[in-house]
Amino acid sequence: MDREGIEGAVLLGWYWENPESCQIQNSEMARWIASSPSQFRAMASVHPRGPRPDDLVRWAVENDFSGFGELLPSLQGTTLRDRFWDDLANRSVEADLLFNFHVTEPVGRPHPGRIATPFEDLEYFVSRHPDLKIILSHWGGGLFLHELNPYIRKLFRNVYYDCSASPLLYDPQIFKNALQVLGPEKVLFGSDYPLRLYPRKDTNPGWIRFLQEIEGVSLERSDLSAIFSANAAKLFGFLNRPHP
Ligand SMILES: [Zn+2]
Repeated sequence: MDREGIEGAVLLGWYWENPESCQIQNSEMARWIASSPSQFRAMASVHPRGPRPDDLVRWAVENDFSGFGELLPSLQGTTLRDRFWDDLANRSVEADLLFNFHVTEPVGRPHPGRIATPFEDLEYFVSRHPDLKIILSHWGGGLFLHELNPYIRKLFRNVYYDCSASPLLYDPQIFKNALQVLGPEKVLFGSDYPLRLYPRKDTNPGWIRFLQEIEGVSLERSDLSAIFSANAAKLFGFLNRPHP
């Protein structure tokens, strides 16, 4: 991060299939936050068979976590219609914690991450928790386009989108399209590090090529600032600096 000018990072948990794995990763991330509180934020791993929502939220607050994610309930044998997620969401709103969901594109090249995350389930969940701040990864699998629907736009007023894994899925023009639909305040840079975003070009993971690709789309400077700094500063309490 120092070498490449990254001032802050949000560490994301993983949707492990065992509760024990979630706890191991959470302890590790707690150590990272404590090691450099100005540089790191983190979203905790969650498993419905792990700690109960009350305990999870208390632990997250005590350890300076910002919320929970990346969440993929279907891989853990549940759905967003299960009580566990409702309880966790209610406690999270009270504690001002965020949710972050993995969202799969409903159509496209087959790959191991193509686990269905139906838009209907997300809409149902958002409608039950309109005050919960939610970040949908991977452009929400394209769900952002439906924010042109005034009903969804209003309902999704606390929903944000990140561009993680975008180079593996979409033409870079999606940045222009998403900004037109959503405005700059709902879009966050997501690296998906250490996923290799350009497997044919790079043998190691990195983010510089992705940054260059985004800059190549010629967005407004103020949009770049929002995506790379201001929105994360607002949601995660980082220091906000203008994009250089
Ligand atoms: Zn994901």
